[in-house]
Parts: sequence; C-alpha cells; structure tokens
Amino acid sequence: MLDVKKIRQDFPMLDGNKIMQGHKLVYLDNASTTFKPKCVLDAIANYYQNETSNSHRGDYDLCYNMDVKIEETRHSVSRLLNCENKEVVFTSGTSMSINLIAYGYGMKYLTENDEVLLTVAEHASNVLPWFKVSEIKGTKIGYIPLDESGRLTPENVEKSITKNTKIIAIAQVTNVLGYKVDIKAITKIAHEHNILVIVDGAQSVPHMKIDVKDLDIDFLSFSGHKMCGPTGVGVIYGKYHLLEMMDPLMSGGGMNAKFDMCGDVKYVNPPAKFEAGTLNIEGILGLKAAVDYLLNIGFENIEEYEHNLRQYAISQLETVPNIVIYNKEAEAGIITFNIKGIFAQDLATFLNSKGIACRSGQHCAKILINYLKEVATVRASIYFYTTKEEIDALVDALRKSGDFLDAYFA
Ligand code: PLP
Repeated sequence: MLDVKKIRQDFPMLDGNKIMQGHKLVYLDNASTTFKPKCVLDAIANYYQNETSNSHRGDYDLCYNMDVKIEETRHSVSRLLNCENKEVVFTSGTSMSINLIAYGYGMKYLTENDEVLLTVAEHASNVLPWFKVSEIKGTKIGYIPLDESGRLTPENVEKSITKNTKIIAIAQVTNVLGYKVDIKAITKIAHEHNILVIVDGAQSVPHMKIDVKDLDIDFLSFSGHKMCGPTGVGVIYGKYHLLEMMDPLMSGGGMNAKFDMCGDVKYVNPPAKFEAGTLNIEGILGLKAAVDYLLNIGFENIEEYEHNLRQYAISQLETVPNIVIYNKEAEAGIITFNIKGIFAQDLATFLNSKGIACRSGQHCAKILINYLKEVATVRASIYFYTTKEEIDALVDALRKSGDFLDAYFA
C-alpha cells in the first residue's frame, strides 16, 4: 500500500504552493512529463556542487568517481529491466533511442523487400524514424489493425505478418489509448518468424515491472523524464548481439578504439559504441536517483495504486453529462475524453482556468485520429502521486464545463 500523502512530500512541485490561474495546481499531464522527487534534484545539484568532472577522460579521482557512478546508473537500470549492464545504452530519450535503432539497425539491414509493422496508435517517435528508413531503403511500412476497442491483440499481429516482415515496432502502452499490450505473446509469435520486436516503453517503463528477459524483447526504449528523472536522458535496452550488429548513429570521442588518416575506424564495444561525446552526466545521475526511488517504492505498489485510482476516475467521470471516454477499459493511467460540443483545446483551456493541467490535441499520435474519428481529444494522465481529490477537482470542473459551453455559444 502506498502512503501517497507521505510520497507527495518528496516532490517540491506538490508542496501545495504551486498556483495556476489562482487555483492550487492539479497536475494531470503525467504522460507528458512527471514531477521530480528531491533525491533527483539533489543528485543533479551534488554533481555540480561537489563532483563536477567529465567521465572516461581523466586519470584523476574526480573523473574516476564519475565513471563509477555512470556504471552504477547502468546497474540500477539493469535491475529495473532484468538485463545486463552492458545492454544499457544512454540516449537523450525515447525519440533518440528509436531513431538510433532505426538508423543503426534498420538502415543497415532492411531492404526494399522487407516490411516494418507498426500500429496506427504509435507516437510520432515510433513512426517517423521508420518512415525515414522506408524513404531511403524502400522498406514497406504496414499497420497491424487494432480491435474495435483500440487494443493491439496477438491474433491481429499473427494475421498481419507476411514473409517480408522483419521488424514489429510497437508501444507497450500507447500514449492516447493506454492499453497494455501482451508483449510476451507478441515476441513469441514474432520470433517464430525471425522478426525483431522493438518496444517503445515511454509509457510503460515508468509504471510497471518490466522483465526484458521474460518478455524476450529485442530492443526497448524509454525516457527518464516520464519516470521522475531529468529531461534529456533516456535508455535503449538491446540484446547484446543486436547491439553488436548495430551501427552507431553518432560518431566522435569515447566511441572509437582507434582511427587513422585513411579513415579506418575501429569502434569500442557496446554500449560505449553508441555514446559519442560527453554524456549527459547530470541526467544520468538524476536517472539513477529516479530509478532507485521507484524501485524502492515498488512497481507492484505503483501499478496497484494507479489501477485503483483509474477505476475511481472512470466511475466519477462517467457521471459527467455529455462526456465521451475513448478508453474506458484501458489498463494504464491515461484517460482520453471529450465533452460533446466542446472543442478539446477549448476544454483544456477551460480546465487550465480552474488550475487543472491536462493535455489536448492529437498527442503526437496523428494517425490515430482517423481511427478515433475525432480531430482532437483531452487526455488526463495520472502517476502514483496523484490523489482522489485531484480527480474530484477534474470531475467538478468538467461538470461546470456546461456553463462554459453556454458562454461559448452566447
Ligand atoms: N513514445 C511514446 C509512447 C510517448 O508517449 C512519447 C512521449 O510522449 C515518446 C515516445 C517520445 O518521448 P520523448 O519525447 O521523451 O523522446
């Protein structure tokens, strides 16, 4: 059981003094980014105040200590995912991770005879890098159909596979509909056909226990800032032999073993092969603090709390007149809705006037709008520090959105 009141004391942004439009801030945009606990802020400040040095670049203690700390972060991430330290590559976030995989693996191995399968629910970061591979290599892009509720099922994956399919690139939890995908069933089907499964974990890793070995995931990407960590840092997990096969996207210091005037270059082994240049050291140290913080709270507790809060939110939201909820049955703490007759962005602006932060628009999932048959939606997304009172504030405000509608048409 989570003691949310106590947990909230760890977060300066939740100190009750943050005011938006004259109201106490109610933050319901956690799928976009999350608040940071003090331990993360302290880790970053400590780096600048007491331990500043580059990593991998000096023979003095400060620098050595930084190397150790970076490897400790890799170890925290490997505990998070159940993988080996050498399978953890630091990037700037999910977008960078997927681009690196698309360019480093896709561009190298895919041909015009091959096909990458996506879904229409993917975030731009898991679509556009594959479009680029398609543009340059001629690789076909296919879409696995969602079922009538918007869920990706293993059955539909199996039906969509052709003899040309080489990669299935899907989110474990999509950022608009929030269904949890049965990755284990999908990797089993895919691997029977020698297809790689590349998982976008931006919305899953922050919220649930993930065992990459058990799920048999080939590549997994996620961002630190969506899981209490700093912005500008993220991870690729990759099976080691795949990381060895993959080309770096960026070249430079730290990733080469030697090079000569003729242009012969020998790279170092992964993960350093993919980490050219000075690392985002403050980000990596902050990420360690965030991962350790979450592991200490326990992902079972986080999942259970978010599940119960979601159920509560749905039960309350259903009582709001004229509401349309697009993903009532989804598992994740993402609730996507509209109020009939009010444009989503106007509704989000109205919520802002009540101090409530929700996202509106297409949420970077621009192909999904054809599926939803809506131009835009409003998204409320929770984390383990969200309270029932904050959900009540949302529901109360939405009930009053009828008055707003009157004003709107007056
Ligand atoms: N994939 C999904 C499902 C997301 O929700 C997001 C961000 O919202 C991303 C990828 C991109 O993450 P980032 O902006 O941290 O690179």
